[in-house]
Amino acid sequence: VIRSFGRLPLLVALLLGPGLGGAPVGPVAAASNDSLGLTATYQVNGHFSWANRSVAVETTVNVRNTTGGAVGSLVFNLTPLRLSNAVVGRATVDGQPATTTTNDQTVFVTLAPSLAVGASATVHIGYTATLNSNSSGNRWLFARTTVLTAYRWFPWLSRPINWEGSSDGDPWETAISSQVNVSLTTDRPLTIAATGQRTSISADRLTQAFVAYNVRDFNFSAAPDYRARSQTVSIAGASVKVTFYYRTLSPAPVMSWAIAALRDYSAKIARYTYPQLNIGEIDGKGDPIESPGHFWIPAGTSSRLLPWMVAHETGHQWFYAVVGNDQPGQPFADEAVVDFMARNLVNVWARSKCAQENLDQSVHEAGACYAWVIYVQGNLYLRAYRDYVGDATFWRGLANYYAAYRWKIGGTRQLLDALDVAAHVCYPHWLRFPSLYSTHC
Ligand SMILES: [Zn+2]
Repeated sequence: VIRSFGRLPLLVALLLGPGLGGAPVGPVAAASNDSLGLTATYQVNGHFSWANRSVAVETTVNVRNTTGGAVGSLVFNLTPLRLSNAVVGRATVDGQPATTTTNDQTVFVTLAPSLAVGASATVHIGYTATLNSNSSGNRWLFARTTVLTAYRWFPWLSRPINWEGSSDGDPWETAISSQVNVSLTTDRPLTIAATGQRTSISADRLTQAFVAYNVRDFNFSAAPDYRARSQTVSIAGASVKVTFYYRTLSPAPVMSWAIAALRDYSAKIARYTYPQLNIGEIDGKGDPIESPGHFWIPAGTSSRLLPWMVAHETGHQWFYAVVGNDQPGQPFADEAVVDFMARNLVNVWARSKCAQENLDQSVHEAGACYAWVIYVQGNLYLRAYRDYVGDATFWRGLANYYAAYRWKIGGTRQLLDALDVAAHVCYPHWLRFPSLYSTHC
């Protein structure tokens, strides 16, 4: 994500001006349990009204207990709980009514009896909500203005992560699902940019079905007046269909930078993993943000910043989508790496306007300097490291980290260790990552 970067005044400030202001960040409640060790597939029926913005979503989750112990409750993230008037309705477990509670963006479903190790359950959760009619703050993640945008809009197994105090970071962490089937019904025909591939469309064009494999999330944007520019390219021997759904942005530079980034990262790290990359233009008040096999770029993005933004969001296909991480707890592991990859490709580097800070901070700790520290100081840290160990060695280390944590959850320490192993160096990471390293290699 490029959250604070995407808002133009902040973006200009980030590249040119003084540091960001902002309130200090409060403490965060500790997680009491989590569902990241469970395995799940999702079947989702979403009804979205363009006219009156009403939303009704029915989600069926087939859960298998792949943790080491019995599980007494399931923990889902559902972002519309924080961004709209969403209300969780009926829930069942194996057809029997189940108790749910909600807190912040999290839905807890009680399992009674608890789910034994290796056992499976079918969980059904319904909710209704209204899409926001303006895109201010974070409302653009679940809104219908000129474009309909829905981000983390159905319950996905996670752990309790507070939205509060997450500054401009991403307050999410999710495990891979092997298969997600989504049916979207709308009150008028909409062109949809989504994670995964469309598998069918009804004769009246009001219901469209999608499937996605090996994803941590399924998001979409939609508009009645989207135009689409598609190109199928061969990336490291595999066919990839890149499509940009746009209204106002010029498609050529978005397409060419996305394809250039796919080629560059495929050559340096590993081949791009999905058969498609779908890019959606969203409301100009939104920010660029990543999804698996998919990302959004806001209207009004300047031609100066667009290459970096497209390269950054494309990079998240490697780090966030395939190699996951604790996004709020260890944002360096995806944001710094992806920003380094992007800036290395476009060869435009920013200078931090915040004083040097540690790079092991969480989004809840980093506060107003989050973007300057994690993205800018982070990518410069990696550039200095790359210059120290050499280009080929650096990329070999990053490729090793990717291979080791493909479809899993990596982290900052695992990343830096993989780089050091490839380079046979003792680099003083403890100076900037004191919580992760002692002063000995
Ligand atoms: Zn990002």
